[in-house]
Amino acid sequence: MINNTTKIFKKTILVIVLLISGSVMISWFLDIEEILSVISDSATMKFNTALLFFLTSFCLIIENKKGKKSQSIYFILTGIILLIGTLSILEHGFQIDLAIDNLFVKDQISKNSPGRMSVATSLCFTLLGIGFLGLKTRKIQFKKISQSIVLITMFIAFISAITYVLKIPAENKTFFFETMAIHTSLLFLFSSSLIALKTPNIGFIKLLFSKLNGSSLLRKMIPFILLIPFLLSYFLSDLIHKNIIEYNFGIIIYTVILILISIIYTSIISFGLNKSDYKRRALDQNIISKNEELIQYKIALNSVTALTITDNKGVIKTINDNLTKMTQYTEKELLGNDFSLFYSDHYEPSFFENILAVLNNGTIWEGELQNLRKDGTTIWVSCSIIPFKNEHGTIEEFVVLKQDISKRKKAEALLESQYVKQLEAKNKELEQFTYIASHDLQEPLRTVTSFSDILSTEYQDKLDEQAKISFKFIKQATSRMSSLIKALLDYSRLGYEQKLTTINCNTLIDNITKDLNTTISQTNTKIEAKKLPELKGYETAIRLLFQNLITNAIKFRQKDRSPIIKISAKQKGNIWEFCVEDNGIGIAKEFQKKIFAIFQRLHLKDEYEGTGIGLAHCQKIANLHGGEIWVESSPMKGSKFYFTILNE
Ligand code: ADP
Repeated sequence: MINNTTKIFKKTILVIVLLISGSVMISWFLDIEEILSVISDSATMKFNTALLFFLTSFCLIIENKKGKKSQSIYFILTGIILLIGTLSILEHGFQIDLAIDNLFVKDQISKNSPGRMSVATSLCFTLLGIGFLGLKTRKIQFKKISQSIVLITMFIAFISAITYVLKIPAENKTFFFETMAIHTSLLFLFSSSLIALKTPNIGFIKLLFSKLNGSSLLRKMIPFILLIPFLLSYFLSDLIHKNIIEYNFGIIIYTVILILISIIYTSIISFGLNKSDYKRRALDQNIISKNEELIQYKIALNSVTALTITDNKGVIKTINDNLTKMTQYTEKELLGNDFSLFYSDHYEPSFFENILAVLNNGTIWEGELQNLRKDGTTIWVSCSIIPFKNEHGTIEEFVVLKQDISKRKKAEALLESQYVKQLEAKNKELEQFTYIASHDLQEPLRTVTSFSDILSTEYQDKLDEQAKISFKFIKQATSRMSSLIKALLDYSRLGYEQKLTTINCNTLIDNITKDLNTTISQTNTKIEAKKLPELKGYETAIRLLFQNLITNAIKFRQKDRSPIIKISAKQKGNIWEFCVEDNGIGIAKEFQKKIFAIFQRLHLKDEYEGTGIGLAHCQKIANLHGGEIWVESSPMKGSKFYFTILNE
């Protein structure tokens, strides 16, 4: 309620009080009667009154200033207000002159007690002074009392203002209000409202401005209570003064109209209240049914999931029975404990840090987790973690819903192992088939080769040129077929090596280099092997793997430069990652997967010799050692062949 408009309103009123009191003080020196008593022949605002209003405005300005100096000034000013107010009351009470009335200017206008404030004015200033002191107490009770005192001042000023509006002649006023000027009443109204508004959170002011229904009713009623009787009195007294109606009749009309307007006004307000009550009841009903719905959801949720609610640090605040069953912990053991209680060492700490990062972004995390139970065993759960934000947008709690999926996981693992077994069996069958087929094919092929050799030598003289060319083609085809079958046989034999040995990769590369000595020196190849590791593996296979990669690097060299081959290795956890890098012709992106398949080649055999099985061998060997193989390359920029070996 105390918003910007109120601030501007308060400042304006303060300026009005300052201006009026200032002009009255000046007018006393300059004898401007029109300002001293605004209504002719009525009471004047005394110099002391104007001075005290001036001081009141200062008190209001410096009231909330923090400095010691301002606070001392505040108390001095309050003291002066209290002192002059009280002394004036004493003057009235004991009919004495304490020489304060004409201290600053001499009042030559007022007939009775010149320069002296009216009883009502003196009392009002004393009350305002108490009000100012009340603003500085810490005790709510005192603050409430002083607020009520300020409201009494407001009430006195209001009554005095009414006497003017109703044009009650001074002689008809009680001596209490006799000499309170109209602008004095108004300035009391203004300054007491400003003081009362300084304590908006207590007492009547709180009641007036709160958002609750009672306060809204009060706000609606106050204008009615203040205005209607007042306006009615004003019009009727005017009619009575002008002898248009008689006094007694006036009272009857006043009563009847007041009752009528009261009934109409209160009916309108009651209608409004009923309307908002209907709305509230409908809302209540809605909330009740939504609550019931929520309870149903909760029951449903509780019956199928384990629920945990933690604060934003992961401390468990709420759980349901399913969680205690799932984790084997008691409710007492869980509440107040950390959620990390369920973390299993199946995961690296970074795994949970990543989950937390997702949650702290305000995103729901969903996934499958292995959870630790009290007895040290683990279970698989399907888990959803929902972060809940408060009204400031910061995460306040996490709601964790878990479902036991251990049975499903077991079934999946079983299926997987069955599948792996079937696959292994099928692979064996296939390898055997390849072995037998390639082995048996060699025999007829040898026959074809030897008989075509016999034919071509025995019938050398009888064969014409065309037949000789045909024999040449037969010879080429059979020798190629023979090398293909041999390659196939080698491929199917891979993996039959039984003995795992410790292989020194540096020695291995040295030996390969020696074997390939002729090719290496013919092609001017440079092989740079960085310090390579020792590892456990099938030596013949690993040797074949390196040899294939090195021979390919030499074979697929660029025409205008000598091959440079760099071999390196990096340890990543429990695997070794090798890289064989060359400066050869490179491989386009679209072929980089295809080349590892059996008999897949990117070139004609006239261009580059080969069967297309070398990389298939490499892949099988890497797989045999728990690893994989891949290539990074681009045409004419060389290739990097990577392969990994599991180092157990
Ligand atoms: P082959 O060498 O007998 O052709 P591979 O299986 O060893 O069979 O290689 C398959 C294909 O991959 C090759 O035909 C060639 O096109 C490509 N390739 C292999 N290694 C390289 C390399 N170092 N540089 C460029 N291309 C290569």
